[in-house]
Amino acid sequence: MTVLASGSKGNSTVVASSRTRVLVDAGLSCRELLRRMAVAGEDPAGLDAILITHEHLDHVAGLAVLARRLRIPVFFTEPTHRAWVRMLTPKTTMSYAKWLDRLQREKEDRAAAIAIESADELAADNRRDASGALRSEDPNAPLELPIEAEPCDADGATMPAAKADPSFLPAVEYFRAGTNFAIGDIGITPFTIPHDAADPCGFVFEAEGIRMALATDLGYMPPNVKQAIAGSDVLLLESNHDLEMLRDGPYPWSVKQRVLSRVGHLSNAATAEFLARDYDGGAAYIVLGHLSESNNVPELARISAEEAIGGRMSLLGNRVLLAAQSEPLAPICL
Ligand SMILES: [Zn+2]
Ligand SMILES: [Zn+2]
Repeated sequence: MTVLASGSKGNSTVVASSRTRVLVDAGLSCRELLRRMAVAGEDPAGLDAILITHEHLDHVAGLAVLARRLRIPVFFTEPTHRAWVRMLTPKTTMSYAKWLDRLQREKEDRAAAIAIESADELAADNRRDASGALRSEDPNAPLELPIEAEPCDADGATMPAAKADPSFLPAVEYFRAGTNFAIGDIGITPFTIPHDAADPCGFVFEAEGIRMALATDLGYMPPNVKQAIAGSDVLLLESNHDLEMLRDGPYPWSVKQRVLSRVGHLSNAATAEFLARDYDGGAAYIVLGHLSESNNVPELARISAEEAIGGRMSLLGNRVLLAAQSEPLAPICL
């Protein structure tokens, strides 16, 4: 497991066996995700698929661009896919005359697109930046994707369908929470998490006798999550905020209420309670993730978790690591 980024400004994690590699979430710009993979020693060309936990921007910001560029399938639940497509479709209200006008324009655009398709390959070469790399979207404006000017493939060929549809993906696969499936030799069990998105999920990955679980973005620890993540060798768990820092911090009251709610985020205290009461003690690594930059301090999260694990800490197991927002965590290899 390699956590490329974790937090409210972007989440992405590589989970790999010796034969299969999947990316869980793509919440940074395509360019930044590729940069972080390079830093962490992960080859993007080796990725087999992208899995999405839920449609919040910090989990999908670079998704369409990255998937098109790598030409790999994206796995969603159906409601999450639908919510994501809706998010990318501009909300417009227009008169009938305007609508007719738009249809006509789209018809002309399609005809023009066919005519210039061969010219595209040439143009793609001009879109390389100074370093010779292909440009992706501005990391500071992840949703305003300049789709029409954007190469989707390292070879410089464009996908014409992406011009008409910002949510166009090379392939979409659906999974359901509670139903196992496999990508290559990695067995995957998605489970429902309580969070304010269309159909949010956590995942358990299993390959070569190793189990890794990923559960962030959840308002509390319900029994189904405790059960799903039991027996994991690596546990990526949310430790979002310190309750006092959140209470006294800069967020408006409504946002504080949302974070604290049953469909918000796990506090250090809630994570500690799980670790003290329900955790089986068997993980080699516990990775704390999705830490709030405004309402938490990494050392507070760490101390809280380590105290909760208490006597079960050993030199061999239960190492507590902190996943960061700004840089990848060193790969965890078992
Ligand atoms: Zn999130
Ligand atoms: Zn979320």
